[in-house]
Amino acid sequence: MPLDATRFADTARPLVLARGFAAPGIPVARPRLPAAEAILPYLREIDANHWYANHGLLWLRLQSRLAAHWGMGGEEVALTANATLALALALRATGVAPGRKCLMPAWTFVATAGAAREAGLVPHFADVDAGTWALDPEAVEARPDLCEMGAILVVAPFGRPLDLARWDALSARTGVPVIVDAAAAFDALRAGGAMVVGRAPVIVSLHATKSFGIGEGGAVLSRDAAWLERLRRLSNFGFLGSRDAVLAGTNAKMSEYAAAIGLAAMDAWPETRAGWLSITRHYAAALQDAGLKASPGFGEDWVSATLSVLWSSDAAAGAAALAREGIGTLRWWGDGCHANPAYADCPRDPLPVTEAIARRALGLPFWRDMTATQVDYICGVARRAAGG
Ligand SMILES: *Cc1c(COP(=O)(O)O)cnc(C)c1O
Repeated sequence: MPLDATRFADTARPLVLARGFAAPGIPVARPRLPAAEAILPYLREIDANHWYANHGLLWLRLQSRLAAHWGMGGEEVALTANATLALALALRATGVAPGRKCLMPAWTFVATAGAAREAGLVPHFADVDAGTWALDPEAVEARPDLCEMGAILVVAPFGRPLDLARWDALSARTGVPVIVDAAAAFDALRAGGAMVVGRAPVIVSLHATKSFGIGEGGAVLSRDAAWLERLRRLSNFGFLGSRDAVLAGTNAKMSEYAAAIGLAAMDAWPETRAGWLSITRHYAAALQDAGLKASPGFGEDWVSATLSVLWSSDAAAGAAALAREGIGTLRWWGDGCHANPAYADCPRDPLPVTEAIARRALGLPFWRDMTATQVDYICGVARRAAGG
């Protein structure tokens, strides 16, 4: 992490833009993707190849490099335009009949529910476990209504690894397919990492706000070649190897230009990851000193691009207190997915844990080249604001 000589606190005051509208001095996120110079050699290859989309050479190379990163075979990864479409296509490739329910945590990003809707399913929101912020496989298996679920979408919250063997065992015992929204878990899924891909397909986002960002992009990891071929077909108008649409597909392909950014991002990943790890460790220690509790697993052996803490009271009060000191915050998942107007009519369980987390979870500024001074300033302000 860069050490800066400036006293950040002096520059952290909100910039007053007009009529009292203040922009935070420290934004909640500041994504940094590969610079133009790093992408340029790959763009020149595209120029030379005259191949711009539809499974080009760069696309193929990125697929193999990502597969190697995740310890998967080259044919066990499919690239897509983004993770949301990949989730919807994963549900379709699994053959879940439209109109059926899709069990998912209420504590997730709206994309999880949006993908289920896109696949013609009805989201059913379940509560999460307070210790993991994720669905608890035991609680799910004990549900008397499990047979009503066409699929289960489990979410790795903010990139925290899940024990997928437990979900595979549940799926094998109950016959209900499981699909994993691991959008933010690029790093936890690395070869030798804590999250090991088994039978359930796993979807990763390569969005700019994730730890490995290429702008827009997604990837699907699966050990089932026939299933992944179906997903590839669905993402390419239903075509594969011929121009006969054997499935009613859509277009969810990644272009060569996105793959070019992806290859440059892969070149930089060791350094990028080191940056995330360094800021994560510094933050984890500073939060502990400040008496603030981070989301489960933060500071363990994986990185992600968001940091949420459990504020001592309402997150809205914390957000207001930090804004007064020029510190940007974001309630990443708001009041929970179920609370969004689009999903107000969806079936749900009682959600006391989700509601308790949502009320207090507050995203703090977090990006990989922020400075130790900034982190210490933020944690100091937060400790005082929280009355510590
Ligand atoms: C980021 C995210 C998504 C969406 O990924 P996109 O690539 O932007 O479509 C879905 N689910 C979760 C849990 C996410 O964090």
